[in-house]
Amino acid sequence: MKRKLNFTANGALLEITNSKRPSGFHAIGIWTTVVPARLSAAASAFIKDAFPEDTDHLGHVRRFTTAESTYEVPAEHATDAQGKPVTFLRMMVCTEPYLSDAAAVEDLLRPLVQIARDFQLQPKQPKNSTEPAPAPVAMPLFYEPRVELRTTARYTPETKQESTEWSRESGWPLMWRGNTAAIPTEMSERDQQQALQYLAKVAAHAKAEGSAIATLIVDPEADTIVGAATDSQRDAMHRPLEHAAMTAVARVAEWRQSREDNSDGYLCRGFHVYSTHEPCAMCAMALLHSRITRLVYIEAAPSTGAIEPESSGLCIHAQDRLNWQYEAWKYVGARQDLGEAGDNVAPVAAGVNV
Ligand SMILES: [Zn+2]
Repeated sequence: MKRKLNFTANGALLEITNSKRPSGFHAIGIWTTVVPARLSAAASAFIKDAFPEDTDHLGHVRRFTTAESTYEVPAEHATDAQGKPVTFLRMMVCTEPYLSDAAAVEDLLRPLVQIARDFQLQPKQPKNSTEPAPAPVAMPLFYEPRVELRTTARYTPETKQESTEWSRESGWPLMWRGNTAAIPTEMSERDQQQALQYLAKVAAHAKAEGSAIATLIVDPEADTIVGAATDSQRDAMHRPLEHAAMTAVARVAEWRQSREDNSDGYLCRGFHVYSTHEPCAMCAMALLHSRITRLVYIEAAPSTGAIEPESSGLCIHAQDRLNWQYEAWKYVGARQDLGEAGDNVAPVAAGVNV
């Protein structure tokens, strides 16, 4: 599927998407192992500890599938203490890029043998019962740390149909919860007008402060500026970390402090950022950590900008592997439409961090 360019505000704003994010099916190897179905919750918790964060980016992949009928279990473990057949599931353990050596994966799985042996079944308490909870029953389970390689889809499918097809092709089931990575590409009329106004304001702020680079952070609901800053990394004091966006985030922190507002710990949740220039990797990550929802800027920063595929290629605002994403829009309209300071926003030289 080809991602379309999304222009809005009469063609003055262009949404920047991560066109490097591959579309179509890309395979990734996953190590899998067979566990008794009763052990699935405990095994899942164990995996998250033993292989931290490895499969976090595979949120679209199911952890478990049914074990194939050819899976051989020693006869004495095929039925439980009550003589009932034991159900086995095949579980995703970790990705092949994370650990390429099967023996190393099996070594890390060894503690699961004991966890299975010590398994206890908690009998169900009848509803509304006032009796003390029944004691758990020892139910030793069989597990052998043996892994097999399977393949699944590396990237989130874009559509439900893709999800179904990729599950079938790879033989490992995917989950369809809608495309959680999809960013809404529409901007309401009010948002478009607001964006153009604040772009004019950020250009005016840079000019008034005598700086080439400026950033504003805006609460779009209250329609008000909550942080404003210019770049001071190259001024007489030589403060290399004081990029406009970094300082603007610091201003938001001060603004919150002045209101004794510590809400939920994320400084800029729901806020929009207006900048004269495309931010560098440090600033783009600072905006991501503070949970902004939209970035709009006027000039690209060749080679160091962390948003456009054509700049550094990092596209930090739209990475599946990071825990937050934000919209990014670039102003592509006429400069004179940004008021008298519009023409002052000039390109930065290649290699200059903004
Ligand atoms: Zn920066």
